[in-house]
Amino acid sequence: MTTEIIKTDTLVVGAGQAGVAMSEHLSKLGVPHLVLERNRIAERWRTGRWDSLVANGPAWHDRFPGMEFDDVDPDGFAHKERVADYFEAYAKKFNAPVRTGVEVKSVQRNVGRPGFTIETSDGVIEAARVVAATGPFQRPVIPAIAPKDTRLLQIHSADYRNPQQLPQGAVLVVGAGSSGVQIADELQRSGKQVYLSVGAHDRPPRAYRNRDFCWWLGVLGEWDQAAMKPGREHVTIAVSGAHGGRTIDFRGLAHRGMTLVGVTESFNDGVVTFKQDLLDNLKRGDENYLALLDAADAYIERNGLDLPLEPEARETYPDPDCVKHPLASLDLAEAGITSIIWATGFAVDYAWLKVAAFDANGKPQHQRGVSSESGIYFLGLPWQSRRGSSFIWGVWHDAKHVADHIATQRKYLDYRDAGQREAAHSKTADTVDA
Ligand SMILES: Cc1cc2nc3c(=O)[nH]c(=O)nc-3n(C[C@H](O)[C@H](O)[C@H](O)COP(=O)(O)OP(=O)(O)OC[C@H]3O[C@@H](n4cnc5c(N)ncnc54)[C@H](O)[C@@H]3O)c2cc1C
Repeated sequence: MTTEIIKTDTLVVGAGQAGVAMSEHLSKLGVPHLVLERNRIAERWRTGRWDSLVANGPAWHDRFPGMEFDDVDPDGFAHKERVADYFEAYAKKFNAPVRTGVEVKSVQRNVGRPGFTIETSDGVIEAARVVAATGPFQRPVIPAIAPKDTRLLQIHSADYRNPQQLPQGAVLVVGAGSSGVQIADELQRSGKQVYLSVGAHDRPPRAYRNRDFCWWLGVLGEWDQAAMKPGREHVTIAVSGAHGGRTIDFRGLAHRGMTLVGVTESFNDGVVTFKQDLLDNLKRGDENYLALLDAADAYIERNGLDLPLEPEARETYPDPDCVKHPLASLDLAEAGITSIIWATGFAVDYAWLKVAAFDANGKPQHQRGVSSESGIYFLGLPWQSRRGSSFIWGVWHDAKHVADHIATQRKYLDYRDAGQREAAHSKTADTVDA
């Protein structure tokens, strides 16, 4: 335990990609700072995700501007360990002042003087500013409908590692965003009978007319959307870089033997019931898919680009039986289901940040990361400034904005009026004379 109080200008909490980006921009602006990370740099990429995960975006896109992946094909999808290595190397590149293995326990505003006092697992720190870079996905959420049945193995997608972890028998995967659908696919490929509960989703084509969807979202301005469209708060995005990167096609998965069901509604006496919304959810996903193809075609035509036609992208599998006659309920034991994976998302947890930077519902109150409590900043939040904010490439740009705000504030505080300037000048002159 360190006993002296360490002082720094800006304390960054968390050394995932957000903390690393923040440190790079603060370094460039000459702002003294320290980054505290309770585990290792990019820990969530190392141990917070399943074994086979690769990045959802190609290596040319899912990176910071200042460094390429030197050993991954730019159009390929880096394995999660490689992503973590990348951020470690990136931090080393500019000598980021990161202290690992130190957890921030609380941050409190000082009374009657500026700045914050920070209690950590390794002593006390005082800082003029604090940046919370603890991630968009902090606390796994399993909904209250989860059955209290001890015969079932129930885990959140954050705790799923590989198919060997599950007992023999069928599995229900609840949630079909990028995590749920990739896990369901992996389990099916391992030979398991899989039931996948599909809610509202977007499913962009992995690639269209020789360009990855990340490129399309970029040139069509979709990454830069400032706010979620109303009513789309519960719409997930189903994409995958697995197996070289393929478009998520739910009907295709069903034709390979997976049973698709609607949104999971309740569990009673070993029977799970599903909403009758499967077809509707698939249709909306198709609409989203086709809208991107249409927008891409229009962009190509408007700009006279020479990109190959791809009419087969509009072909679809016929509706499989599980879509034509969706299950309303399922007896778990009769179906042989022995495990449930909840791919139902995450919440944030800022219990340690004891400042007035939250609204009545406990959500961070901020504008592009600059919070309502002067000196407190957030980074890496979903939709912090735009759709891309919680992703690798987007957080780097948000960090630049936050660092710039910090540097500007420091300039205000450095201001000296005429009397103060005169006093400082005479003091310097006295020192020179002496
Ligand atoms: C399954 C999955 C796949 C994803 N794939 C991609 C992808 O391919 N491309 C992409 O761009 N995005 C992807 N994302 C989204 C996003 O890039 C990641 O969630 C990324 O990890 C977010 O980085 P971050 O630095 O904001 O947060 P995190 O990676 O969560 O880092 C936060 C850090 O803060 C530390 N911390 C937390 N609390 C404290 C504390 N009190 N004291 C000290 N340290 C603390 C944690 O240990 C952690 O290391 C994916 C997300 C998930 C869940």
